[in-house]
Amino acid sequence: MPSVFIKTFGCQANKSDSERILGDYSSRGYTETEIWREADEIVLNTCSVRQSAEDRVRGFILNLNKYLQETGKNKPKVILTGCMLHFNEKEIHELLPEVDEILPIAEVGFNQKSIRKDKDSAWVPISTGCNSFCTYCIVPFSRGRERSRPIDDIVKEVESLALDGYKNINLLGQNVNSFGLEKSGINLRKLYMDKDNFSAGTIPSNESQYTKPTTKPPFVLLLQTISKIPGIEKITFFTSNPWDFWNELIDEIAINPKIDRFIHLPVQSGSNHILKLMNRGYTRESYLSLVKRIKEKVPDAVFGTDIIVGFPGETDDDFLDTLDLVKKVGFKVAFVARYSPRPGTASFKLYPDDITAKVKKERWEILDKITNKDNLSNRPLIP
Ligand code: SF4
Repeated sequence: MPSVFIKTFGCQANKSDSERILGDYSSRGYTETEIWREADEIVLNTCSVRQSAEDRVRGFILNLNKYLQETGKNKPKVILTGCMLHFNEKEIHELLPEVDEILPIAEVGFNQKSIRKDKDSAWVPISTGCNSFCTYCIVPFSRGRERSRPIDDIVKEVESLALDGYKNINLLGQNVNSFGLEKSGINLRKLYMDKDNFSAGTIPSNESQYTKPTTKPPFVLLLQTISKIPGIEKITFFTSNPWDFWNELIDEIAINPKIDRFIHLPVQSGSNHILKLMNRGYTRESYLSLVKRIKEKVPDAVFGTDIIVGFPGETDDDFLDTLDLVKKVGFKVAFVARYSPRPGTASFKLYPDDITAKVKKERWEILDKITNKDNLSNRPLIP
């Protein structure tokens, strides 16, 4: 039997994709090996969020070459997938001549049966790609535009997981809460977030993929449907964008005990100046107002977030604004990253990477300590 070794870099979306890639290999008669030296085929499921993530792929290939030179063994077939596919085929072959084949994840498809190692909790992709074009982010280029999976397919997969004994479901998408709304125009929705009447009633009915007319966001309908499936006890979702966190979603979390109280809500910066440069489409005030609205209706909600420090032009005052917002929200967990310019993104083209590595490190250390070591979530939201 031929064997495959799958190396996954990066985020949970890649891990979930690797489960489907393994399912695909298994359906073609391959066994999985955890020892890359023994594999007939090696799949590198790559990440491009920072240069260091791409460097790790290069490091893996260097190790492989060294091993082949020392042993004289035949090179296994190397297949590249994931976010490094934002490079075109020619660029990939120049960067990594050892790559034999490129595998766009769309070819594996949402409905490919996954092989999951975790037996308690299942990751279920509901959408992929992104239409938001935050200036620092490679996702709209690496994964392409947002595409939602048909709701019936998701429900069938969760029913089958429940029959297999899974109780915890993690719904996954780059913009998980904009599920089914890819036609509605992100800028339109960002515009609504700064208004107080931030509800799905504001979505023109012909712009929603699944509801006619739109009375509830499709994501809320999906949560309601899945939570009724016998055996499912807890539903978590990653990652929510602030501009798709409708009032109807807050109401649903408030009344639905199966929905996890942990809400991952990336803020990226607490400075309006930096948020604008990032094209995040909200202000610190509208973000804090959203957190406050959630807390009012879901008092036991706890928040996680993503923050980038050292974005081009970030002054000490901008950073202090971020610190201030972080203290006000009291995040339970924060993934703090140092800005790394990614070729192909708007920020790479438009803004010089003008914050020194030393300052980025200092800001990273301060934020990481405050968010992840001082446990701010025990403190109440400061309005
Ligand atoms: S919302 Fe912004 S940060 Fe998130 S995947 Fe889309 S472009 Fe990237």
